[in-house]
Amino acid sequence: MKRLLPLFTLLFVLVTFGQNSNRHTSVKKVLKLMGSRFEITVVAPNEEIAYVNIDEAVMEIKRIEKLISSWDLDSETSEINRFAGIRPVKVSPEVFALIERSMKIAEITSGAFDITYASMDKIWRFDGSMNRFPTEEEVKLSIVKVGHEKIKLNAKASTVFLPERGMKIGFGAIGKGYAADKAKELLVKKEVLGGVINAGGDLTTWGTKETKERWTVGITNPLDKEKVFSWLPVVESSVATSGNYERFFHYEGKKYTHIIDPRTGYPTTGTRSVTVFAKKAELCDALATAVFVMGRDSGIHMVNQLDGVEVVVIDDDNKVHKSSGIIFNKTEEMN
Ligand code: ADP
Ligand code: MG
Repeated sequence: MKRLLPLFTLLFVLVTFGQNSNRHTSVKKVLKLMGSRFEITVVAPNEEIAYVNIDEAVMEIKRIEKLISSWDLDSETSEINRFAGIRPVKVSPEVFALIERSMKIAEITSGAFDITYASMDKIWRFDGSMNRFPTEEEVKLSIVKVGHEKIKLNAKASTVFLPERGMKIGFGAIGKGYAADKAKELLVKKEVLGGVINAGGDLTTWGTKETKERWTVGITNPLDKEKVFSWLPVVESSVATSGNYERFFHYEGKKYTHIIDPRTGYPTTGTRSVTVFAKKAELCDALATAVFVMGRDSGIHMVNQLDGVEVVVIDDDNKVHKSSGIIFNKTEEMN
């Protein structure tokens, strides 16, 4: 028995059996993909069907990771970056479309979300290896290469060109949401009752639980992570959270997150977490990052102008703020 335990933790597989009369089974698999913890839940007529479907979803996510990862030197992202200032690069229609959508989001958010943020990743590191704060001069220099409007797209030739040497793009704030959407798209067509793709906090749902209940997400009480402040429904839609509790560094008493303001070149401060609700996980993912950069007031204001998008912001004082369409079914009072 003792020997079995590590095996179980290694597989990270959790199986629960549905208790309703239709005997649907809910299977959840937890695994590391795209450098994050993914949880894939599928509700299917039986376990075998559920596992086959989960495997297909995993393959789809791995395919996307290969295509867009900044760490994979063979990815299309790496190729685009390698030829910055040199020549346009031919990309797949999929990557081309992802870049087009990313540029649209950059416009909507006045550049708070910007895939060209990536040229700044030399001066800010969030893996514990930062040993000094960059100088003002270094920060100023780093944003020279930033600017989504500089990206040259040629739809006919399906090419992308970063016109300046040192320019760089990265899908760190949208890729996981995109992967979740694509995995869901694939599973919706299958013999499954419902499911959830949770891509490291960017999640999308379809159908129902095995009990026929709707999927909900809990907004955690910032004062007590174990407690849920309110449950919100996520029906055939998505939700993404960007938080400052995962990758950050402290400097002179301030906490700096891995989300950088492309307009100033400095990491964001002042926000604890941003949770965005919308139809697509991709939009949720990108907007959560954007609201972090824009800050509470401008961020909520922007979301209030967008159809079908809602947001919950928790600031550094643990105060909860929300867009106009969020109605808390409060389980406990805050403050
Ligand atoms: P997480 O990856 O923790 O879910 P986010 O979705 O908010 O968090 O993405 C943060 C990542 O996005 C960073 O690690 C970085 O790769 C990238 N990024 C940082 N700042 C920006 C920005 N202003 N616009 C676009 N991408 C960004
Ligand atoms: Mg994001």
